Amino acid sequence: MTTTVPALVAASPGAAFERSTIERRNVGANDVQIDIAFAGICHSDIHQAREEWGAGIFPMVPGHEIAGIVTAVGADVTKHSVGDRVGIGCFVDSCRECDNCLAGEEQFCLKGNVATYNGREYTGENTHGGYSTQIVANENYVLSIPEGIGLDEAAPLLCAGITTYSPLKHWGAGPGKKVAIVGMGGLGHMGVKIAAALGADVTVLSQTLSKQEDGLKLGATDYFATSDPETFKTNRKRFDLIINTVSADLPIDDYLSMLTLNGSMVFVGLPEKPQTFSVFSLVGGRRRLAGSNIGGIRETQEMLDFCAEHGLGADIEVIDADQVNDAYERVIKSDVRYRFVIDTATIPAPAA
Ligand code: NAP
Ligand code: ZN
Ligand code: ZN
Repeated sequence: MTTTVPALVAASPGAAFERSTIERRNVGANDVQIDIAFAGICHSDIHQAREEWGAGIFPMVPGHEIAGIVTAVGADVTKHSVGDRVGIGCFVDSCRECDNCLAGEEQFCLKGNVATYNGREYTGENTHGGYSTQIVANENYVLSIPEGIGLDEAAPLLCAGITTYSPLKHWGAGPGKKVAIVGMGGLGHMGVKIAAALGADVTVLSQTLSKQEDGLKLGATDYFATSDPETFKTNRKRFDLIINTVSADLPIDDYLSMLTLNGSMVFVGLPEKPQTFSVFSLVGGRRRLAGSNIGGIRETQEMLDFCAEHGLGADIEVIDADQVNDAYERVIKSDVRYRFVIDTATIPAPAA
């Protein structure tokens, strides 16, 4: 049993988004049905809609930064009620029994979690994401959005927020730690806000100084252009932690040279091609090169509560359904301040 709902659909890799419909399952005993209000556009949506990471499942409805209101709950649901403000991030299910799931690290589920879109339910159905007006998910994978954050500025927290919060927490960002955020886009601007709220000393490493004023307003104390070779000399052996949010190739050794003794550089950006670095860059300072993937459900809730407590939402540009194709081009050109969020009320085709 399914319900037909409006959605923005890419019919094939790289195809423009068109208004169409998809089927959502009806509410099961443990399910929550959500009227989606806003869906953020993550660069991962672009990578997948264009098959930059490998084969995708089409037709595709991206969107894993979802915020909305609960409109129905199944008979056994205890965590959410009709009218609640809720969100969904990058996955809508996981095996719930492997060591990683039991540890609350469902993003690393050993069976493989169920991606919010471009994935398959364990029962085999294709999943569809937030560029639509309604979604149904198991209550355990639905987050509560605290009062005090607008649903529009909260949506990007479900991916950009948790993807930066998790490594910042894991690698101990806080007072006395020097943290650099590479790339000030969707992830990067949240990284700056969260790292500053955690009490770290934050530096932005951006391609140019064009967003310097914003970076300093968001909480950074320093801002450098990576197009200037002096940046790498000025900041030699300076940072305890570098979070790299860049989706393109980088000269990794130059970045490693800015790490202090025992410093770590953490990749969250996911470039298409393999990256290379010299082992000497690590050995010379007992440095670490690492990666991090979104965050688990418990930590995502912790992040949302942290953001509400510190008055942090994403800096957004709300767009309507007709602007999504252009927005993709602008994200690719780093022309976004700092996250596009789709007002999903504009998805249904206008009445004839
Ligand atoms: P975004 O908004 O496009 O931001 C990326 C930023 O990287 C840009 O704003 C730009 O910042 C910088 N950049 C872009 N091209 C560059 C280049 N050629 N050289 C140097 N810097 C460049 O993207 P996003 O949504 O934040 O996502 C960033 C990456 O993280 C994507 O690859 C995405 O797939 C990945 N991601 C990973 C996870 C995870 O769990 N690991 C989760 C979400 C997203 P400046 O203008 O400041 O230089
Ligand atoms: Zn994302
Ligand atoms: Zn699992």
